[in-house]
Amino acid sequence: MITISPKLIAPCGMNCRLCHAFTRERKPCPGCRVDDCLKSKSCTECKIKNCEKLADCKAKYCFGCDSFPCDRLKHLDKRYRAKYGMSMIDNLESIRKLGLKHFIRAEKERWVCPKCGKMLCVHKPQCLYCQHTWH
Ligand code: SF4
Ligand code: SF4
Ligand SMILES: [Zn+2]
Repeated sequence: MITISPKLIAPCGMNCRLCHAFTRERKPCPGCRVDDCLKSKSCTECKIKNCEKLADCKAKYCFGCDSFPCDRLKHLDKRYRAKYGMSMIDNLESIRKLGLKHFIRAEKERWVCPKCGKMLCVHKPQCLYCQHTWH
């Protein structure tokens, strides 16, 4: 059964469970919200995760910030929409409107491989387990 821990949903709306760094065998990344030395430099130094406004916001997601969606987030969102067909801003709106539990349930359905039933990786056009091309 596919599981997604709530702490794998990053402040920017990224679902770290779908990230290639999380799924790789060698030195996997534990996810944005986990402080760990295995994280890549780009993630420990991420300007969104380290944003002062995020630290001050109660929700601990960018949607709780009065600048949401800021230019930095819009830029990331644009890149992911174009490259991977996924939107951080839509994810955040969904969490805000429906709650984290509902969002996670929807993510499990959205990102399941139609062929083998395992979880897809947003960064890879083929399923990591059965090679089915989904993207
Ligand atoms: S590399 Fe970044 S996006 Fe990927 S799992 Fe780690 S923290 Fe999340
Ligand atoms: S939306 Fe707000 S909390 Fe998130 S990165 Fe932008 S300024 Fe920081
Ligand atoms: Zn598969």
